[in-house]
Amino acid sequence: MDIVLYPDPRLRAKNAPVTNFDAELEATTREMFKLMYSTKGVGLAAPQVGLNIRLMVYNPSGSEKKTDDEVVLCNPKIAWKSKVKEDGQEGCLSFLNICGQVTRPISIKVQAQGLNGEPVEVELEEWEARIFQHELDHLDGILFIDRMSPASKSLVKGDLEDMVQEYKDQLANS
Ligand SMILES: [Zn+2]
Repeated sequence: MDIVLYPDPRLRAKNAPVTNFDAELEATTREMFKLMYSTKGVGLAAPQVGLNIRLMVYNPSGSEKKTDDEVVLCNPKIAWKSKVKEDGQEGCLSFLNICGQVTRPISIKVQAQGLNGEPVEVELEEWEARIFQHELDHLDGILFIDRMSPASKSLVKGDLEDMVQEYKDQLANS
C-alpha cells in the first residue's frame, strides 16, 4: 500500500459505498493506519491509497500509541454543520509538504458506519471536525487545494506545478 500523490486521477475518481464489513476491511484499515503514522499524518482516506471506496481513518493525536483515539468511518456524511466557520492550516499526505489555509465549519454532526457496519453518530468539533471534513472531501473527489483561499493557493502554485511535472515524468518513464 502506497500513498497516491496529486494529480493522480484516482484522487478525483468516484468512490463506491463500503458494503463488505469483513476481515479484509479491517486489515485494510490497519494498513492505512500504519501508513498514516509512518508518514506523520493524522488522517487518511481510501482513495489516497488507491482504493476508491467511502472509507476513512484518522487519529487526531497522530500518535500510534494512542489507539483509543483511532477512528474508522465507512460511508460517512454530515448531518449538520455549524454556521460558524474557522480558518486553519491544513496539509495532505497526497501533497507532500504543501500546506494552506482552509475555512471550514467549526462543529459538525456526523452519521456513518463503523468497522462492523454498525451505525455511528458523533458530534465533532474544531481539530477533529477539520480532519473529518478534509477526509470526507477526499471521498467526494475534492482536494484541499480546491478550498484554499486564492492568496493561499497562489503561494503553493509553483509546488503544485512541480508535482504535476513529476507525475508526468513518472508516467513517461513507466
Ligand atoms: Zn488529504
